[in-house]
Amino acid sequence: MVESNAGSYTGMRIGIDLGGTKIEALAIDNDGNELLRYRVDTPRDDYAATVEAMAALVRRIEKETGKTGTVGAGIPGSISAKTGLVKNANSTWLNGQPLDKDLSAALNREVRIANDANCLAVSEATDGAAAGPNGTGGEWGHIPLPWPNEEENPGPLCYCGKRGCMETWVSGTGLARDYKHVTGKQRTSREIIVDFEAGDKDAIEAVDRLEDRLARGMSSIIDILDPDVFVVGGGLSQAKHLYERLPKRLPQYVFGGEADTPILPAKFGDSSGVRGAAWLWPLTR
Ligand SMILES: [Zn+2]
Repeated sequence: MVESNAGSYTGMRIGIDLGGTKIEALAIDNDGNELLRYRVDTPRDDYAATVEAMAALVRRIEKETGKTGTVGAGIPGSISAKTGLVKNANSTWLNGQPLDKDLSAALNREVRIANDANCLAVSEATDGAAAGPNGTGGEWGHIPLPWPNEEENPGPLCYCGKRGCMETWVSGTGLARDYKHVTGKQRTSREIIVDFEAGDKDAIEAVDRLEDRLARGMSSIIDILDPDVFVVGGGLSQAKHLYERLPKRLPQYVFGGEADTPILPAKFGDSSGVRGAAWLWPLTR
């Protein structure tokens, strides 16, 4: 007898990555091989249309493959255990909505929803850079930057309402903002990294500040959790020098002065979030 959430079991998992500008859906087989991938623009500020766009991607994949899949979704927020409603989403039109229930109803099956950063951790721990029994990951975007200097205190305003959150400093946006604040010049984080690699003085100093802040944040995590590995996702994860230079900066901040925690790029890069959403239905058979 076959028991499955999605009728007869097909081994197909569908992951949806709900972002502020695009929604991506991906289908993988039992071995994690990609079957199909579609991407559409996010209907910003329109909750009903967002739910429908997510459901439509699933229907399209199932029509194309002729299979029924399990469905998981990564969202830029989380479902409150207290209210069952979305909270903390920077795509603010999702907040206060029962997204898991509405998507489950639209697709006529249980849909699992998790925070997008946690999806990245699930992906990398399942078959990515942190694969293994102790694979772990996390999100520390909204804890404050540790050991701030005078210039860094109280720090930039975050969408969460507080100031000086890690993600206002160590994201691509944070790098560009810091660079502009210091140099007066407007450059994207990608351009700053290119300048850095070409030996530009302003870019070298900006990347130096970025790495120092990352090292402070990671050292606090080591002091509390002592993880086996750090897996870096997002746009900045493509800056290759981080994996050479950053580990050398940890000992000066970690209690006791010793740290050799590996720092690795997300194996699946930009796809890790959507793969992790698919893996929210783990291998059970
Ligand atoms: Zn914040």
